[in-house]
Amino acid sequence: MRIIQSYQNEHPTLYIVATPIGNLADITLRAIEVLKHVDMVFAEDTRVSGKLLKHYDIDTNLNSVHAHNENQRATLLKDYFSEHKNIALISDAGTPRISDPGEILVKTAIDVGYKVIPIPGATALITALMASEITTHPFLFYGFLPPKKNAREKTLETLKMVPYTLIFYEAPHRITPMIQSLKTVFDNRRVTIAREMTKRYETFMHFELNETVDLGDLKGEMVCIVEGFKSSEWLDQSDLIGHVEILIADGMQEMDAIKTVAQSRKMKKNDVYMAYKKHKKHFDTNINEEV
Ligand code: SAM
Repeated sequence: MRIIQSYQNEHPTLYIVATPIGNLADITLRAIEVLKHVDMVFAEDTRVSGKLLKHYDIDTNLNSVHAHNENQRATLLKDYFSEHKNIALISDAGTPRISDPGEILVKTAIDVGYKVIPIPGATALITALMASEITTHPFLFYGFLPPKKNAREKTLETLKMVPYTLIFYEAPHRITPMIQSLKTVFDNRRVTIAREMTKRYETFMHFELNETVDLGDLKGEMVCIVEGFKSSEWLDQSDLIGHVEILIADGMQEMDAIKTVAQSRKMKKNDVYMAYKKHKKHFDTNINEEV
C-alpha cells in the first residue's frame, strides 16, 4: 500500500486540472493559479488550450499529450520528476481522463513518486445529469459507444439489465443512429439529450424512445442520458405464473397479485386467475404424489 498525502510532502506534483466545457468563465480560481505556477502544462491540443491560457493571461509553456504520444510524455514526466518540476494536465474541455487522455501519465506519476492532485471543475456528464429529469442515483457513465451498429448494439445488450441511469457521450453525426440502436435494444425508456451545454445553443431534449422524435441534423456536442432498467420491465417479460408468485412472495394477497398482473399485462383477470389455479393444482398434485 502507498499513502500519498497531497499537502504533506515535498515531492513535485502532477495536477489534473478541469477546464471549461464551453463557457470560458467556468474555470475555478484554483485552476487558474495552478496553471500559472506550474513549470509545464500538458494539453491535448495546444492550439485549443492556448486560447484558454491566453484568455487568463497565463504564459506557462504548453506541450501536447494525446492518445498517440502519451507513452512518450510519460517518459518525459519521469525526467521532470528528477528535475523537481511541477506539471499540470488539461484536456481540450472538461475533466482530463473522462473520455480523454491521462491514464498513463497518472499511473506513471504515482509510480515515480509524484503527488497527483486533482483540481476539480466542469465535466459534461455531471453537467448533463444536473439538468436531466432522470434520476442521478445511481448512475453508470459509459462514455463513447462503439461507432459501428453491430458492436454498438452488442454493447447496449450488455447494459440492458443495468438498473442504473446510463450516460453516454456521442459525436453529433452519430446521435441519430445511436438513438435508433437504443430503441432497438432498450425498447422504451426515457432519454435526455444535453446539447452544447454552457454555450449559446445549449438545449436539453427530454423524450421517450417510443416517441417519434426527429433529431434531424443536430449539431454540436452531446451527452445522452438513458433511464436504467426497471425491475418491472423484467416482471413484464417474465412468465405469467412467476409474475404472480413474485408479487405474492413480496407480501401481496393472491387475488391482488392476480389483479395487478392482469392489469400490467392488459389481460382479463379471470384468464390470469384460471392459469394460476391450473398451475397451482398441477403443482399441488405433483407434491402430493411425491409425498
Ligand atoms: N473530458 C470531457 C469531460 O469532462 O466531459 C469529455 C471529453 S470527450 C472527448 C468529448 C465529449 O464530451 C463530446 O463528444 C460530448 O459527448 C461531451 N461534451 C463535451 N462538452 C460538451 C458540451 N458543452 N455539451 C454537451 N456535451 C459535451
